[in-house]
Amino acid sequence: MQTLIPGMNLALMEDRWVWTLECLGNFTVRSTRIPIDKEMIPTRVHLDARGLDIPSVSCPICEECSESTAHVFFECSFVTQILNGWSGLGLFG
Ligand SMILES: [Zn+2]
Repeated sequence: MQTLIPGMNLALMEDRWVWTLECLGNFTVRSTRIPIDKEMIPTRVHLDARGLDIPSVSCPICEECSESTAHVFFECSFVTQILNGWSGLGLFG
């Protein structure tokens, strides 16, 4: 890898997963809830509200509704299909 990217120095350690939303690098549900609850997810609705010039606020996946935080995580027909598939696996009790 170092020969392919000049100037890159790789640490001499095993690769590992790091969750960057927590200072310790460990995944927590709480660390994912904070950006959701504080409306920090860069959805198209939020980007438009911040004045960014975007062609549409529609969800790029289903194109049925505006891409809000609630839509992305709970309302999008694509997401509900996934959640329904998971519920069929008995993961939710
Ligand atoms: Zn959608």
